[in-house]
This record gives sequence, C-alpha cells and structure tokens, in this order.
Amino acid sequence: MSYGTGAVMSVPAHDQRDWEFAKEYILPIKQVIFPGDGSTFDIEKEAFTEKGTLGDSGWLSGFTSQEAFGKIAEYLREKSAGGAKTNYRLRDWGISRQRYWGAPIPIVYCERCGEVPVSDSDLPVELPLEIDIDGERIPALSAIESFIATSCPTCEGPARRETDTMDTFVESSWYFLRYASPDFKDGMFEPGKASYWLPVNQYIGGIEHAILHLLYSRFFTKVLRDIGVFELDEPFANLLTQGMVVKDGAKMSKSLGNTVDPDDMIVRYGADTVRMFMLFAAPVEKDLEWSEQGVNGMFRFLGRVWRFAVGFFAEPKDEEQGLELQAGGKAAALTAATNRTIKKVTEDIESFKFNTAISAIMELFNELSTLWKEKSVGREHARETLLAVARLIYPMAPHFAEELWELSGESGNLVNKEWIKWDEGAFESAEITIPVRVNSRVRNQISLSPDADEETAREIALSDSRVKEYIAGREIKNFVYVPKRLVDIRV
Ligand SMILES: [Zn+2]
Repeated sequence: MSYGTGAVMSVPAHDQRDWEFAKEYILPIKQVIFPGDGSTFDIEKEAFTEKGTLGDSGWLSGFTSQEAFGKIAEYLREKSAGGAKTNYRLRDWGISRQRYWGAPIPIVYCERCGEVPVSDSDLPVELPLEIDIDGERIPALSAIESFIATSCPTCEGPARRETDTMDTFVESSWYFLRYASPDFKDGMFEPGKASYWLPVNQYIGGIEHAILHLLYSRFFTKVLRDIGVFELDEPFANLLTQGMVVKDGAKMSKSLGNTVDPDDMIVRYGADTVRMFMLFAAPVEKDLEWSEQGVNGMFRFLGRVWRFAVGFFAEPKDEEQGLELQAGGKAAALTAATNRTIKKVTEDIESFKFNTAISAIMELFNELSTLWKEKSVGREHARETLLAVARLIYPMAPHFAEELWELSGESGNLVNKEWIKWDEGAFESAEITIPVRVNSRVRNQISLSPDADEETAREIALSDSRVKEYIAGREIKNFVYVPKRLVDIRV
C-alpha cells in the first residue's frame, strides 16, 4: 500500500483537486484529518493536505496520521487484505561502460582465482595516459597491453585487468564527499571531515541530471551510513533546479541549430550585461527564453546608469548647495526607497530571486534619475543612492559596479567591502512617491505612506495643484489606485 498520496485515504477534504471537484459539484466535504497542534482549519476555503490527527474516523479517531498509517497496515494484515511494504525505485544498475573516460573498475581476472578485487594498497587504479583513441578498438583500454597485464593480488600469478570503465554516474554519486578532504590519500574521503562539512547546504543543478543523480547520490550516502562510514543521512539540505535556456520556444541544442554562443554575446555586450540579462529574464527555476533584444535592453539600462554616473560625478558641487533643504520631503523619500531596496535585494538574492532583485535596482535607479533631473533631491542623498545602486548591482555585474565605485572616488574595491546594510527606520514610516496619471499621461508625483488606503490617496492626488490643473474641473470618470505604484485618473 502506498501512503502520502491521495490514493488510499482520498476524501475531498484532503486533496486539493478532489476538493475542487467536490466544490464544483456541490458534494459534501467531510474533514477527517485535523491540525496536529489543535488549531482550527477552515475546510470551506481549501483542502487540508497536511498530516495531523484523525477525527470522525471511527476507531482511528485520535491517532496521528503517522500512527494511523501503522494501524491501518496492521488491520489489513490481520484481514489478509494487505500490509506495509517499502518500495524502492532503484533498479539493478549496470555500471560498466566500454569507453576510456571513466574510473577504471578495480578488478583483475586470474586464471586460477577468477575475478579478484585489486588490493586496497594499489588503489586507485589510474587510467593510462598514453592512449590513441581511434574508435576501432572497443573498449579503448583493451589496446593497452601495459595497462592490462598485471599480477593477481591473491596468488601473484599473471592476471589481466578489467578494461571497461565505470559509468560517470558512479563518481558523481559521491564526489561532493571528496570535496571535504581533497588531499586525503587513504580512501575515498576522510569520514570525519565529510561529517563536519556535509550535508551540502545548497545544491544547484539542471533538471536533466537531477532525478537519477539525486537518487544515486542519496543511495550512496545511505549505504555509506549503513556500513558505518559516517552518520550522514542525506547529502543535500536544499536543492535548486535551474531552468534551461530556450530559444524560439525550443531547448537550445546543436541538432536544432538554435544555439547562441555566449562568447559572441560577451564580445558584443560584455559579460556583465549578458549575466544581468540571464538573471533578469526569468525566475531561476524557470526556463529562460533567449532574446537578443533582451540582452540589448539590459545593455541600454547599464548604459543609462553609466552615463548618469559620469555626469553626476563630473558636475561641479557648489551649485547645488541649499537644494537639500528646499527638497527635504523627496530626499527622505529617496533615502527610504534606497533602504527598502537594499532590504529587498538582500532578501531576494538570499532566496535566489535574482530577477526581482534586478528589477528593484532598476526601479531605484529610475527614481534617483527622475528626482535628480527635476532637482528634487540634493547631491548627498543622490550620491548615497547611486553608491547603493553600485553595491547592489555588484553580485550581478561586478566589473561594471567596480567601475562605478572607482568613478565615485570612494576608496577600496567593492569586492573587499562587506555587503551593504539597510536601516529599517529609514522606511518604516517614511512616505513614498508615486506617479499620478491623468488620462494616461503622468502629470505629477505625490508623496504618501506606502500603506495609504484608496481614500487617502484620492484625497492627496486630487488636492495636488498640478493634478487639479489637468483635471480642470472635469468630472472624474474613473479613479484607480495601485498601492505603492500609481494613481490613474480618467476625466
Ligand atoms: Zn590468482
């Protein structure tokens, strides 16, 4: 019997699809599993798919899901109707390959003793380096007499080495353990060090290699645990499977002829632009649609930042004295936006949301650029934000960010600087600036609390003198307020 899926205990209350079906056809939904911590759960809103405590379940009521699994299996066994069984999906695995590139299989064939493992002191068996791979002899190692001819570890008589090599899956199933002690000479890895460093905190890989590789890696780890090498149970604590690069809707492949050589793009746009584009174009776990337009768009964005910075740092500093005081409100708003962005980018990067991190940096730069051009912020505040943009963009566009940093005249290199910190106080109560559109055109910006409700936004927007000017006493046909984004008015 199988647990965990809806197959055995499927009732509409505990499987979302069954729940939706029952809702659609107005069937009764009876909850029989309840939150284990005694909290309430509204089954009218969605299915309860967690494990918990059984209720309304006859003799099983009061047991936890886990206890109930055992009780049900026991019951079925008594009735000769079933029982508990562990299913393994790992099948027998032929690990030998008829090719050169692979770890040699440490077995020799002796006429007297048969198949004999190479003695521990002679491990690892290394591949011969003088080899001419002509594709004629398969396996390739069968052509290398100096490799094949050896002596039997048991009787010391003449023996011949195995000429197949191991499937690369064999080594990829435990290589991460070796990373903990790369210089260790007396075995695969040093168990103490592997125990210290493992499990891998964050594992990242493509979906194509994920399934078998993960199954094998976990299997190897559990075998090593069972034979007492270490106590490690799982090799990887977290897994991220990144999406593939697709072009014109298809996976990039040589046979389809739709590959793009990243080197060409790097020569044209620079590595920072290409990297920024790739991180920006899609969430990391989703497929990324390659688009030269997109690369070009990112190139233009970085160009805008660069030209802004060149102009900004080149301008004489004396002219803007006093501006800071006149424009106090917008300066605070910019500082708030800067700190809010530092927090968002930091948290996004930590959870691999590079695309939203980059768009937050873009938004911050756009705000800076607008406020600076309309002279609503002074140099000091603008500088603070521009330096923050350089530091935030650094992980994605390091060369570009270092150049910005140097341009600013700040000392040192970003690579040696600690990650930028934010000040929660700077934005907790601070107001933000959002555009007001009248008949689809932005007419002014208003400042308001990020949590302001529609009524407040309406009041502020309609009392703004420039907005009033454009409304010109006409009737308001439609008023839309998107919190933290914009106000849109139709007259
Ligand atoms: Zn022998």
